[in-house]
Amino acid sequence: MFEIIFLGTSASAPSVRRGLSSQVVKHNEHRFLIDCGEGTQRQILQSGIGFKRLDKILITHGHLDHILGLAGLFSTFSRWETIPEVEIMAGGYALERIKKLLYGVQIIHPRKSQIKLTMTEIQPGILFEDDDFSVTAFSVSHRGPDCFGYLFEEKPRRPFLVEKADALGVPAGPLRGALVKGETITLKNGKVIGPEEVLGEEKEGTRLMHVGDTGRIDNLLAHCKGVDTLVIEATYMEEEKEMAKDFAHLTAGQAATLAKEAGVNQLILTHISRRYRERDVRNEAREIFPNTTIARDFDLYQVKRGECIKVKQN
Ligand SMILES: [Zn+2]
Ligand SMILES: [Zn+2]
Repeated sequence: MFEIIFLGTSASAPSVRRGLSSQVVKHNEHRFLIDCGEGTQRQILQSGIGFKRLDKILITHGHLDHILGLAGLFSTFSRWETIPEVEIMAGGYALERIKKLLYGVQIIHPRKSQIKLTMTEIQPGILFEDDDFSVTAFSVSHRGPDCFGYLFEEKPRRPFLVEKADALGVPAGPLRGALVKGETITLKNGKVIGPEEVLGEEKEGTRLMHVGDTGRIDNLLAHCKGVDTLVIEATYMEEEKEMAKDFAHLTAGQAATLAKEAGVNQLILTHISRRYRERDVRNEAREIFPNTTIARDFDLYQVKRGECIKVKQN
């Protein structure tokens, strides 16, 4: 299961109700902050998730509405020893701007700052891998180079069939653990049991995809195929589709078309413009893809295989 907490859901400039782009994806003890628009630091406090273990930051692209909050966040991090080490992962262009932002006026001081900051330039492919999940980056077309989307994917796993293990006389404890790891075991009575005998059919893991600003959907279709939850921008509506094209953004209708063609389970729209009513954006998308919601600041969703539950609603 993944959890996503929306910290900022507004496009370009904040509104009274919406902060600038930022969200946290959680999996077990891991936390990934995706984008860090102005004001993110305060949104983190208000959301109640805190700064602990917020040590991996993924940036979708280098536009200011997605990175300016890093200045405030690191101003705090570098003075209050909130967190010892942080890694920022972003495309080359975004990293250049982030370096100017953080080092230009010495928000991070090369010698005095307590924090160890690593900046990693992203290439498409696997960014992070743990025992049971991975994070993959893929290219996205927006204004300027090096824009990325991120796929969070649990590894497929075979469930342990307790009834079969019981029937075969495998005692609870380390022997069962060994079978789960795929090892063959020998019981006290000499009986040899292989993992095939107690593991069920392989089940696909949960997939959560986050796409920041983008002007195209055709090159995302293959990446989005069958994901459980797709989080993507919807800055414009169809009535202003020419403007969406000019600024390399999507309309709600385009985002919904992508969700429909890719066969995703749930669509969550974010990067919402102040120019529209939320209800109108939602309706435009739902006409094409009914399983659509509009993210609001501080919404928390749990994403499981074939299931997406809004746990906390703002
Ligand atoms: Zn933006
Ligand atoms: Zn942008």
